[in-house]
Amino acid sequence: MMQKGSPVRTSDLLASLGWLKHAFLPAGVLPPEETACGHQRHSATVVMSEAAFPRKQCEADGVIAIDSRPVAVYTADCLPVLIADTRRHHVAAVHAGLKGTLAGVLQQAVAKLLDFGATPQSLVVAIGPAIAPCCYELGEDMLGKIAGNPLVSAPRWFSAQPHNERAVRPQAQATQHGIWFDLPDLARQMLLAMGIPAAQIDVLPVCTYCSAEPQSSYRRNSHVSDGYALRYSWIQRRE
Ligand SMILES: [Zn+2]
Repeated sequence: MMQKGSPVRTSDLLASLGWLKHAFLPAGVLPPEETACGHQRHSATVVMSEAAFPRKQCEADGVIAIDSRPVAVYTADCLPVLIADTRRHHVAAVHAGLKGTLAGVLQQAVAKLLDFGATPQSLVVAIGPAIAPCCYELGEDMLGKIAGNPLVSAPRWFSAQPHNERAVRPQAQATQHGIWFDLPDLARQMLLAMGIPAAQIDVLPVCTYCSAEPQSSYRRNSHVSDGYALRYSWIQRRE
């Protein structure tokens, strides 16, 4: 159930494009009925909207629409990434957790949009609510694996847990003497490396663990068992 007062979040950058609609929905709220969405597997597979409708009929972590069908991804702590091509008016929704990001799901989505006539300079990207470095602890061994990935140049992380001044509930407590990893920044860096201008990449400053609405975080639920529900993020070209 939608919590009273749960906000539908949007990106100012995407909202400035009059030809599309989008939303980062709160936990537990479904996207429009006609939305295409893959059965997500933390893979780098990106498909066209017709392959992913009805919802979850194929395995994919990214969906592209070159028509006016809405496309969506569902996330808990992973990154929901919405992409708009201002040149051809195509859109994409991408589910980018750590695993999918390292597998290249963002590169696959951008490559497909370029195949359909986009240029890196014509893409506008919004990264929605996801677990932020204030709450995302990883074992130090993971850092070696991440740094060894050919798609990664300089991953951002902290040895001391960053304080989140926007937190509305307690931040995650350390469980493994690990490091605090910045997953949204990893995606941002990859998008920059693909030639997308920094001014065209919006990162919403909302951590699913400590500053989004309740039930947003799979990881928080694994720590304090207060439940979680999927968060859908969708984007659609207007008719
Ligand atoms: Zn947090």
